[in-house]
Amino acid sequence: MAGRNHLYVPGPTNIPIEVLSAMNVNGEDHRSPKFPDLFKPLLADLKKIFRTEDGHAFIFPATGTAGWEIALTNTLSPGDKVLIYRFGQFSHLWAAMANRLGFDVTVVERPWGEGIPLDDLEARLKADTKHEIKAFLATHNETATGVTSDIGGVRKAMDAANHPALLFVDGVSSIASLDFRMDEWGVDGAISGSQKGFMLPAGGAFVAFSQKAIKACDTARCPRAFLDLKDQLTANKDGYTPYTPSIPMLYGLRKSLDLLLEEGLENVYARHHRLAEGTRKAVAAWGLEQCAKPGFESNTVTAVVVPADKDARAVISTAYSKYNLSLGAGLSEVAGKVFRIGHVGDMNDVSMLGAFAGVEMALLDNGFDIKPGSGVGAAVEYYRATA
Ligand SMILES: *Cc1c(COP(=O)(O)O)cnc(C)c1O
Repeated sequence: MAGRNHLYVPGPTNIPIEVLSAMNVNGEDHRSPKFPDLFKPLLADLKKIFRTEDGHAFIFPATGTAGWEIALTNTLSPGDKVLIYRFGQFSHLWAAMANRLGFDVTVVERPWGEGIPLDDLEARLKADTKHEIKAFLATHNETATGVTSDIGGVRKAMDAANHPALLFVDGVSSIASLDFRMDEWGVDGAISGSQKGFMLPAGGAFVAFSQKAIKACDTARCPRAFLDLKDQLTANKDGYTPYTPSIPMLYGLRKSLDLLLEEGLENVYARHHRLAEGTRKAVAAWGLEQCAKPGFESNTVTAVVVPADKDARAVISTAYSKYNLSLGAGLSEVAGKVFRIGHVGDMNDVSMLGAFAGVEMALLDNGFDIKPGSGVGAAVEYYRATA
């Protein structure tokens, strides 16, 4: 098919041409005296994205999933109690991992479409008077349902309960695109990956840990080797890595950090909010519902619910095969019930309008009762009015 594929899955995301060009490099000696000149500023600038001065940033040759494991195994001991709310495929997988790693996991079910219930969290932590819960696992942006939880509110709930648990946050689809404040919110472990807001290929787990979390490594008894934070700390101190880094990834990250910091984080957050608002206007104009309940709507991905007599898989399939448009599928419990429009990373008004036009064609082809141009029109007016 002529023309490019139009990529609107919420990860991997579009890679800016500047980043692609920066990654087109030869192999390089990662033990050379020059290597720290590349590596040290990467860690320093990653801290700016996480918004931490007190914490440490790390780059692992891995993905977001490894970030979950890094947080758990470096700071906890087998059998430790951890608490997590399950309201989508990613919170589900993190809980499942914690179980597989041998922790005592309390999984609290919430409706898919809602996020972390702050009152319930505070009550549970208050009830844990012996402080048996060692870590609370928070999925900041549940990519499966397009739900964002209030991590500042989580910190308030933890403080109100005067609870010392570590706070680990999955920010794979939020960090570098949604407001995230590691130090201000007292986050002990912030987990992200290269292929979403960072606009890179998959293969980088970018994580940051507080001093409290680093200290917990000293007494944590979970076995760990490749994902050991202490090995990273020791090598990173001099600007090196404990094993061979992906050189193209590091040059790509250099460019991606430059782009994000040049735009300014507040502007990056505002752009994602505006593009998401336009998406929500389009969905409303089609007469469709979002999976996210009011107050939880994500600015990086919108999950759109199809009526009960329709199959979202057909919409996604038509979009891909007929229009070369990649939409996100519904995962596990919402398979067939939702399709997802990603608006994370290297996006602007016109790229979003292209997605809405493609979605409209796929909806019409599948017998949805929508007016051609309705969603595009609503978004056009919103984007023009707020440009
Ligand atoms: C994509 C994603 C992950 C998984 O990341 P991988 O890079 O596929 O390991 C974890 N959590 C959230 C919220 C995600 O969006």
